[in-house]
This record gives sequence, C-alpha cells and structure tokens, in this order.
Amino acid sequence: MSTDDSSVRVAIRVRPQLPRERLDGCHVCTSITPGEPQLVLGSDRAFTFDHVLDQDCSQDQVYNSVTARLVEGCLQGYNATVLAYGQTGSGKTFTMGTGFEVSVLEEDQGIVPRAVHHLFTSIEKKKKSAAEEGRPAPEFKTTAQFIELYNEEVLDLFDTSRDMKQKSHIRIHEDPSGAIHTVGVTTREVQSQEEMMQCLKLGALSRTTASTQMNVQSSRSHAIFTIHLSQVRVCASNKEDSPESEVDEYETLTAKFHFVDLAGSERLKRTGATGDRAKEGISINCGLLALGNVISALGDCTKRPGHVPYRDSKLTRLLQDSLGGNRCDRYTDRYTNNYTDKYTDRYTDRYTDNYT
Ligand code: ADP
Ligand code: MG
Repeated sequence: MSTDDSSVRVAIRVRPQLPRERLDGCHVCTSITPGEPQLVLGSDRAFTFDHVLDQDCSQDQVYNSVTARLVEGCLQGYNATVLAYGQTGSGKTFTMGTGFEVSVLEEDQGIVPRAVHHLFTSIEKKKKSAAEEGRPAPEFKTTAQFIELYNEEVLDLFDTSRDMKQKSHIRIHEDPSGAIHTVGVTTREVQSQEEMMQCLKLGALSRTTASTQMNVQSSRSHAIFTIHLSQVRVCASNKEDSPESEVDEYETLTAKFHFVDLAGSERLKRTGATGDRAKEGISINCGLLALGNVISALGDCTKRPGHVPYRDSKLTRLLQDSLGGNRCDRYTDRYTNNYTDKYTDRYTDRYTDNYT
C-alpha cells in the first residue's frame, strides 16, 4: 500500500505519554528507524508506513505532511478522505481537531480546522489572482454535512431536533455516475472559515458518546464531517484551443472531503462491554472490518476493481467515491486518481498487546 500510485496512504502517529501514564511509570516501547518511515515495536517488530510521525511531531507537521496536498487536490476537483484510526485514547480526536470540550491553543489545532483555513485562504487567493489578471472570478460554493454512524444507522449531527429513539430515515444513494449521496441529511451552505468552524463545533458537541470502563469520553461511533466544494470557472482548455473566442466557456468542478474520526478500534473484551454496549461494539467492528477489507482491496492492484467490497458496511458505502476515486474513468483508473490518508494512532505502551 505504500507504492506511489496507490490511492491509499497510511501514516502512523505516536502520541506522547499522558501525565498519568508517566506517573504510572509506563515506558515507551516504540522507536523509529532513522531515515526510514518505519516504526519498531519492542526490539524487533518493524512496521513500514508511508509516514511515521513520532511523539515530538507538531500538529502543523502532521497537517503539512499528510493533509495539505489533499486540500489542493480538492480545489482541482478530487475527492479525498482522511481517516483517524486507533484505540480510544490514542489521539484520533486530538489529531483531527474535532474535540471542542476544552479550548485548544492555536498551535494545537488539528487537521480539520487547518484544512478549513487552507481551503478558504486558497479560495480567496484564487479570486484575487483572477481579479488581478482581469479574468472572471471563479465562483465557489461550500457546504458542510456532519453525520455519525452508530450501530449501522446514519444520524444527522446538524439536526438538533432528532429523536434518538426513532429510526433514522437517512439513505445512502449511488447515482448513475457512481457518486454517493446521503438523502435526508442537513446540508449547510457556508460562506466563510468562521461559519465552517461553527458548523464543526455544533456537530461535534452533539456527538453520541457513551462511557465504557476504558474512557468516559470514549466514542462508540464513527463521525464524518464532509465539506463539499463546487467551483464554476472559465474553462482553461477551451481558451487554449480558440484564443480568439470572445465568449468564455465555464466548467464546474465538484469535490468532497470527508474527515472521519473512527470509533475506537479496541477489542470488545478489553472494554468489558456487555448488553447494548456489546451490540455497539459488534457493529462498530463491522464498519472497521469492512474498511480494512476495502483498503486492502484498493491497495492491491492485482484485484479486479469490481471486487472492492464497499457494500459490506454503511461506512464503506458512504466513503465509496472518496476512497476509490472520482474525476477519472471509474473502471480503468479508479485507484490512482484519488488520495486518501489514514492515520493510525496507537497507544505507545500498555495496550501494545492489541497491536496487530
Ligand atoms: P481518541 O479520540 O483516540 O480517543 P484523544 O484524541 O481524545 O483520543 O486523545 C486522548 C488524550 O491524549 C487527550 O487528552 C489528548 O489531548 C491527548 N493527546 C492525544 N494526542 C496527543 C498529542 N499528539 N500531543 C499531546 N496530547 C495528545
Ligand atoms: Mg475521540
């Protein structure tokens, strides 16, 4: 999966020890092979990734090494997904920057706020340079959706009046072009970076969380924040073909960016979950299991494209057109024209027996 033409890239981030872990005398059992994107567990179990981000890595470095170019891709019409995968407490929400229970310093802002900033400053730059060059300004429209997948049900985090006891009516629909749509989800049109951040906060605060023995803030659901971007711009290729043409031709580019804070990857037995909790655990695993299978299929160029098992879970179905690619021939080239980064955050010490 680490070949350059794969649509999937995997980065591993090792978070620093928490104060309590230091007090408990836990020790760090990972090291990085100098000059290689390789993490060594213990003394001899080595794993290679596309990027290895060690404990001292700043949020800014994380963003620049693995997400910045995806935002650039989005501005060119490519769909993208960033997934945070790892056990509860490993740093998924911190890395994504979608926790708003406490205020964070600017330098500690995670991926989503940075991507929002990057996106809106790029839009402003594009408008400005068009004005300076006397071209018609491209028109941008940005919208946001925020959903949660809980027990294979899609919940709308922008719908504050939702009744948790009623079954959700949201459907996942694939159109004839292969694009995936969520029917019945609130779509908020957003004009600015500030508005986008308000949307993110609003949704993040209404997320379903349930306590387990492991972590009171443990999140048992997958949260997906999606930014849709459409831009209408003067068609560059048309200008080159007939420079004397007086009439501008326009093209519309659309792209979406999913930011996914996955449910904890811990095994059911470790949380001591029973009853309803256990049921949640089983369906969470179903999404994560399906995701693992889809990602392996995408990374394996020897498999037929038709074999990617997107339909095995709502999670993979939702992400289908942002994992396998858009803006390309869906059958011959779907593996190469998209970028997906997956973060793998793990405990560095006491839970390493879960490291697989
Ligand atoms: P998860 O979402 O995977 O359950 P969190 O993002 O809530 O985990 O992280 C657990 C704790 O670790 C939080 O207190 C968070 O602030 C802290 N943490 C995680 N990653 C880092 C990091 N890279 N640097 C400093 N603190 C971190
Ligand atoms: Mg979390």
